Amino acid sequence: MSAPVTIFRARLIRTMDPARPEATHVAVRDGRVLGVGDRETLAGWGPHELDERFAGQVLLPGFVEGHSHLMEGALWRHVYCGRFDRMDPDGRVWPGVGSIDAVVARLREALATHDPARGPLIGWGFDPIYFDGRRCTRQDLDRVSPERPVLLSHASLHILNANSPALAGAGLLRAGIEHPGVPLGEDGLPAGELKGPDAMMPVASRSGLDRVMLAGDDAAIRAFGRLCVRTGVTTATDLASPLPDEAVTLLAAITGEDAYPVRLVPLLRLMGQPVPEAIARALALRGRSTDRLRLGRIKAVLDGSIQGFSARLRWPGYYNGAPNGLWYLPPETLRAAYAQALAAGLQIHTHTNGDEATELAIDLLQDALRAHPSPDHRFVLQHCQLADAAQFRRMKATGLSVNLFANHHFHWGDQHRASTVGPDRAERMNACATALREGVPFAIHSDAPVTPLAPLFTAWCAVNRLTASGATLGEHERIGVAEALRAVTLGAAHTLHLDGEIGSIECGKRADFAVLEDDPLSVAPERLKDVGVWGTVQDGRVFAAQAQAVRG
Ligand SMILES: [Zn+2]
Repeated sequence: MSAPVTIFRARLIRTMDPARPEATHVAVRDGRVLGVGDRETLAGWGPHELDERFAGQVLLPGFVEGHSHLMEGALWRHVYCGRFDRMDPDGRVWPGVGSIDAVVARLREALATHDPARGPLIGWGFDPIYFDGRRCTRQDLDRVSPERPVLLSHASLHILNANSPALAGAGLLRAGIEHPGVPLGEDGLPAGELKGPDAMMPVASRSGLDRVMLAGDDAAIRAFGRLCVRTGVTTATDLASPLPDEAVTLLAAITGEDAYPVRLVPLLRLMGQPVPEAIARALALRGRSTDRLRLGRIKAVLDGSIQGFSARLRWPGYYNGAPNGLWYLPPETLRAAYAQALAAGLQIHTHTNGDEATELAIDLLQDALRAHPSPDHRFVLQHCQLADAAQFRRMKATGLSVNLFANHHFHWGDQHRASTVGPDRAERMNACATALREGVPFAIHSDAPVTPLAPLFTAWCAVNRLTASGATLGEHERIGVAEALRAVTLGAAHTLHLDGEIGSIECGKRADFAVLEDDPLSVAPERLKDVGVWGTVQDGRVFAAQAQAVRG
């Protein structure tokens, strides 16, 4: 007796399978695609149930978010204070806030219903770069409350603002503090910004925010799943996690539930532990993988961020003259990790933002490959925002794939042109067209929660390259809608070594679909981000966005 067969009929199916790009019906059995075509052909598989609920919708392969963090699910329990409108896991769109006064007003409104037993009031997503460099101060947040602790996390997650009660609670509201991450005000007391994990720790650990950062809790994993359904995502990474045993046990339990809608791919972060320990841990984790929890990959972070001036840039450096950025990982540690991972058959994803970091990662991998030749190692550079054409040719020659940060053009493109890298190099950032031309397999991503999880928006960014001010940044690096859609499906699946299972709708693959209200290839390219998402089908299970709300 074989399992029941369901044939879904859709207005149109865009399969991403070059042998059959379009169809009207897809047959599903055991959570996998049995066949694609028309009903008559598929009926040859025998008795089946015809499901016509998508007769008005367009099916694409389920979107694959190749660089996101489960923290996106955790942060929504706090108050969104970002510059741009953003949808929460329950479908509510939060308007962006356009000034520090507006941030204060939003936090004050939230404070009225905030239960002090939950700890300090916390805002997130804040970025002073949009406010002409005016920084948020302790006094700004004292206007939210002079008595109760209030925190404001920056979009970068590398800086935390605190008001006077929050600083006092952590013993920081005093004169004489000498710490590079704690700028002082004219009164000699901390001005309110805490920069870097070290400076943030005393306040963050008291508030529980550090645990939120690790993101491993039940509610966060579920909220993340709801957001995925709303955005058409059926597979998503949690790109850097310490993955302690408790977190893996929890992830295995939740992703194993019939109602959990996403396949999660958490990567073990290489940070602090000796390299051999990280390799052994990743190998052990790989053995605990299930269909919806894929373990056994490593993430390394080589430098910082370009807008934070902590990325490593080659000559001529930052446009505004800022000193070069930081190595977040000693280059020799990455050298050892590459060699040992290749020997063990493990994949490493490496965060490189600046072009000096990208150059170093390619150099180190080429060295490691001489000692450990590895067919199809599929190492990936993440972000890789500033690579030039010659570096893409080196990536191709080295067998590297790349996951480009397409959303950056919109969120920080104006700032990149004005101050970080200047008008010339800003045009080549996140060079999708060059990747395509040079034959480097590529994906595009959101790095949620840094920017919103929403692959159609990410594709729109790569297609249009518009900045927040409406300027086109790098028109020659624009790509077509079809190429952008491929990047958020098969392209991202490729970076995870999962393109044999997901990323297109074809026989044998998982029955993972993004269910859209319109055909993204028929709407005007500038409307791509506005195509409605009905929901998803994941492993053959149907999830409606409308049904995704907090229960209980
Ligand atoms: Zn990230």
